[in-house]
Amino acid sequence: MGIQKILVTGSAGFIGFHLCLKLLNNGHSVYGIDNLNNYYDVNLKNARLKELSKHTNFHFHNIDLTNKSNVLNLKNENNITAVIHLAAYAGVRTSLSDPWAYQENNVIATLNLLELCKISKINNFTLASTSSVYGDNKTLPTTEKVPTSNPLSPYAASKISAELLSYNYHYHYGINTAILRFFTVYGPFGRPDMVIFKFIKLILENKPITMYGDGKSSRDYTYVTDVSDALIASTKLNGYEIFNVGGGNATTLNNLVNIIESFLDKKATIKKIPRDPSDVEHSLADITKISEKLNWQPKYNIEKGVRETGKWFLDNLNFISSINLKD
Ligand code: NAD
Repeated sequence: MGIQKILVTGSAGFIGFHLCLKLLNNGHSVYGIDNLNNYYDVNLKNARLKELSKHTNFHFHNIDLTNKSNVLNLKNENNITAVIHLAAYAGVRTSLSDPWAYQENNVIATLNLLELCKISKINNFTLASTSSVYGDNKTLPTTEKVPTSNPLSPYAASKISAELLSYNYHYHYGINTAILRFFTVYGPFGRPDMVIFKFIKLILENKPITMYGDGKSSRDYTYVTDVSDALIASTKLNGYEIFNVGGGNATTLNNLVNIIESFLDKKATIKKIPRDPSDVEHSLADITKISEKLNWQPKYNIEKGVRETGKWFLDNLNFISSINLKD
């Protein structure tokens, strides 16, 4: 693609940071939006922004997307070629204690942004969705055709709503729309409420790790730069499509712990507690569609991805020891 000006929401977040870096390194201009909320340790978000701000073609704006007039004011920003919408409340379990935050930040915020695309005639919109929309479906690997009418959490329900609104704006206003359903994303500069971040930090600090269930649950883990590549490819889409974005392999929780232990050359102390009913038992993406239509393939398997993530921890021990984990 030629040089573009891309609006990225959630640019201080984990995936947003990696996406912006890749876009900037490819010579694009990035208009980043985030409200730096305190859902998890804000020092991580500020540190990511500090890295991004080293690039002169990165323009950051602290805007809360739930505020309609703030979002619609962005119409004065000219020549935006695509919107990549990552901003959201992304934790599954916390969505049960504060479902309202998920409606506002995941549904209303998406609606405001779609309205901006409509009035500014922005032709490409990408929505970050999630494998959680599939609920406890037993068809593995899961294709995009599996129904999404039985979400297990308000988080999943909010993402299904955002997908439906995006379709509606595509239908009426012809906005090219890609819905990317990510399967458990991990990598350097990750989220302190997610298992890989927690396990590496706690094992390094000789503290016990908490395992929900018996360790036999499994996930399709996706390395974050693979996700950035998929997001960039999605901005060229014509029409409306839903794509799974996954590594294409399942790893059990027990095996994940083994992989981390062998990279760090340290044994974990494991505390087991019952499975949380809002967590799906198994996830595994069928990635045939995205590989055929967007020519995208993951480049990282879990061993290589954990190695890269672990190296980042070892290179930033002081910073990481100052970061608070989140349940
Ligand atoms: P993240 O929490 O690190 O990033 C989200 C960012 O959005 C945060 O920096 C937050 O401050 C910002 N934000 C939230 N509400 C906002 C608002 N109202 N206005 C402006 N900014 C706001 O999460 P992430 O892991 O980078 O996830 C990015 C997207 O990918 C999310 O939509 C998430 O649901 C989706 N996703 C992530 C995963 C994963 O495993 N990380 C899996 C599936 C889907």
